[in-house]
Amino acid sequence: MPGEKKIIIIAGPNGAGKTTFAREFLPREAGCPDFIEVHSIEGQGTALDNHRVSRRNMLRTAGLALAGTVIAPAALGQRKRSQHSPPYTVDPVLGSKKRPRRFAPVNVARERVIRTVVGLRPFRQSGFVVRAESLGDKLLVHNYGHGGAGMTLSWGTAQLAADLISESGKSGPAAVIGCGVIGLSTARTLQRRGFAVTIYAKSLPPETTSNISGASWSPTSIVETAHRTSTWDAQFERAARIAHRAYQLLIGDEYGVRWREQYYLTDDEDDDPVGFGEIRDLFPDWRRLDKREHPFPTRYAVVENLMFIEPSIYLNTLLRDFYIAGGRIRNAFFMEPGQLGGLSERIVVNCTGLGARELFGDRELTPVKGQLTVLLPQPEVDYAIVTQGLYMFPRKDGIMLGGTFERGVETLTPNPEAEERILSGHQRIFSTMK
Ligand SMILES: Cc1cc2nc3c(=O)[nH]c(=O)nc-3n(C[C@H](O)[C@H](O)[C@H](O)COP(=O)(O)OP(=O)(O)OC[C@H]3O[C@@H](n4cnc5c(N)ncnc54)[C@H](O)[C@@H]3O)c2cc1C
Repeated sequence: MPGEKKIIIIAGPNGAGKTTFAREFLPREAGCPDFIEVHSIEGQGTALDNHRVSRRNMLRTAGLALAGTVIAPAALGQRKRSQHSPPYTVDPVLGSKKRPRRFAPVNVARERVIRTVVGLRPFRQSGFVVRAESLGDKLLVHNYGHGGAGMTLSWGTAQLAADLISESGKSGPAAVIGCGVIGLSTARTLQRRGFAVTIYAKSLPPETTSNISGASWSPTSIVETAHRTSTWDAQFERAARIAHRAYQLLIGDEYGVRWREQYYLTDDEDDDPVGFGEIRDLFPDWRRLDKREHPFPTRYAVVENLMFIEPSIYLNTLLRDFYIAGGRIRNAFFMEPGQLGGLSERIVVNCTGLGARELFGDRELTPVKGQLTVLLPQPEVDYAIVTQGLYMFPRKDGIMLGGTFERGVETLTPNPEAEERILSGHQRIFSTMK
């Protein structure tokens, strides 16, 4: 019934995998993108009402949250916490020196919001598509459907797509359809292999989904476990490894790519933020910190080193590189595959993201709406956090606060309730940092 509320309680002993299960099951199977962990609220001053919250109250709150109701925004705009956190010591791995770690808190206040933006992740339950087929006398290579990991995998699937072209033996100019991160990376990869490339696209940066991304180098919201195949897994691992290496060569201000520590906040001892064991080594020097080692209001914080990408800088620089290498861009919108037959190029790469649903009739493509609330920049914030339904990525152009994963929701209009949840959730975290 419309408006009906339901409570889903996931129970089990510590280490049973409750959080891991909840993260898959609630958004994907139960239509519930947001949930609250008992431990993350119980026993702390929270933004709910600044009272200590009993387990019973928590369950009530969780029920409301599960039903999509907003957690009361506790005095957003009040800045009660001290401006400086005490230094924390992060224990080193094996024998190296202890180093003090200072965490500048994020100043979460409504009057510091500079924009709220929305993008639609091009999600497929069986993962991205990289494959070749014939379209009349043309070779058509698909490279789309990267969900919440298009920035992450871009160079990797671009190389897989370019390999299919090389294997076909076809030569001559190539057309790339789409000018988001996938189109640009594919175009640059083909240019490096000697192809003359023209990009045809309805929109260019900054008007693409890619410009809305966070963006951390992290394979998130990309496939459903039950729909993975060994073929896809092999493509995924290869793409991830290629892309990880490629981004390392772009570190610096010119491309807006940098390494940062990310703290994954959890109460579950066994919780692993990566979820893809086969590429765990791509997140170097990761460790689980216990309560004494981190300032956040959870039992554990898993610290790992990730690359972060600033999309507006990054995509502009890719565009520049594309032009310098002789690339051309044409504004074009294709409504059906037959229209591609009119292109002069005999090699066509489909990098249309969510657009492939209409253009090629791929009904598996589903939008997963993501919304970011951006606060004024705080250069002193030099770490990222991720926790249940929330994340904070500091960038030059602002502090990105996410996250929403609304599957099947197809509007670019910001959701005010989601914004309240994101602001109050982050305020709770940063106002209770020790
Ligand atoms: C809030 C949010 C946060 C995210 N965070 C991250 C993150 O931290 N890390 C990460 O890796 N990813 C992240 N993502 C996901 C990432 O943004 C996407 O996976 C990525 O942008 C997909 O790139 P794309 O090039 O396929 O699509 P797009 O950027 O949408 O580009 C598609 C291109 O195709 C063109 N096009 C489409 N249809 C047609 C047509 N019929 N004719 C002509 N042109 C067409 C479009 O105009 C556009 O140029 C995030 C996404 C969102 C919304």
